[in-house]
Amino acid sequence: MRLAKRIENLPPYLFVRITEKIAEKKAKGEDVVSFAIGDPDIATPPYIVERLCQAAKDPPNHRYPETGGLPQLRQAIAEWYQKRFGVSLDADKEVLPLIGAKEGIAHIALCFIDPGDIALIPDPAYPVYSKGTLFAGGELYYMPLTEENHFLPDLDAIPTKVLKRAKLLWINYPNNPTGAVADLKFFRRVVGFAQQHDLSICHDAPYTEIAYDGYQPASFMQADGAKEVGVEFHSLSKSYNMTGWRIGMMVGNAAMVNALKRLKSNLDSGIPQAIQYAAVEALTGPQDCIQEHNAIYQRRRDLVIDMLKNIGLEARVPRAGMYVWAKVPPGYASMDFANDLLEQVGVIVTPGVGYGKGGEGYVRLSLTIPDAALVKGLSRLSSWQDHKNRFKPKK
Ligand SMILES: *Cc1c(COP(=O)(O)O)cnc(C)c1O
Repeated sequence: MRLAKRIENLPPYLFVRITEKIAEKKAKGEDVVSFAIGDPDIATPPYIVERLCQAAKDPPNHRYPETGGLPQLRQAIAEWYQKRFGVSLDADKEVLPLIGAKEGIAHIALCFIDPGDIALIPDPAYPVYSKGTLFAGGELYYMPLTEENHFLPDLDAIPTKVLKRAKLLWINYPNNPTGAVADLKFFRRVVGFAQQHDLSICHDAPYTEIAYDGYQPASFMQADGAKEVGVEFHSLSKSYNMTGWRIGMMVGNAAMVNALKRLKSNLDSGIPQAIQYAAVEALTGPQDCIQEHNAIYQRRRDLVIDMLKNIGLEARVPRAGMYVWAKVPPGYASMDFANDLLEQVGVIVTPGVGYGKGGEGYVRLSLTIPDAALVKGLSRLSSWQDHKNRFKPKK
């Protein structure tokens, strides 16, 4: 058997070491507390699941769905964008439901990237932007996200030579993993940059609804001209705790929407319709759950930030998203620090380097951890201070 190069050359999974360690610990009967998972711990609101159950019993929903999704769902997405962001979308031409945002994110490269083409990718970032590009035979150019630049890419630093071959530019705000946010001024700058260099923009925005202290994240689609140059990926996963149902959307530029729809009509056979009806319910039903969940995350965020301060770790207080991006102690690599926390106090955090070289020096703590585990995890982490004096930090 000979595997294809695109699989053989897949970079090794960076979390392997940690995953193995966890399995070892569990086999020994030791319990670990994980701050690593970015998956809402709270259930999907019951009225949404109720709609899904009801739709599951309706025989027309037992048949093949259409690639473009139910017209009712496209309409609900367009109306949600209008209500939430004041953005007008043509429900037939500028909206495409997805089997989760990840599915569209992974596949869009196939619509734009030929071998030799470049995609501009933030570093650190959600790994799917780069993997999708590589599967399409494209090349990557990493744009470092640094604290000095508020974790925004420095577009002026991209060499002209790279820009000539670049076709896609990926951005993601509120950002995973850094917790950074971007305002409309930045999005307008991105639109101008795209026009100047003939780039198509992909903005990944699954966290616009998860925000704190009254902050309201913007949509890229609110920037003048955004629809001419790009699309936005969004998802019901994080807003409505629906990760398991697999439903998201891409909205914006009609030619880009059409390209992905054409590709998908040859790849998949749409989203199970009962799930589409549940999504309509989520988008058009009561929205109180969003504030309720955000209040829970905000309380957890404050507890995590306090604890980090207590053990002497620096972290910015995120205004949005589900993560705290904390600096590791001086002299540590993020992987070694994550390993030491697991070894010494039985707590799992995600090493920043898992999201790219630019994540080195940081670890990510997720706020999607049930309260009881959070309390246990925080108390364990607080005790790490003692270990710090006993164990020499590794170089
Ligand atoms: C969770 C997440 C997604 C994936 O969302 P799905 O709709 O569940 O596929 C995409 N991008 C980022 C940055 C995420 O954190």
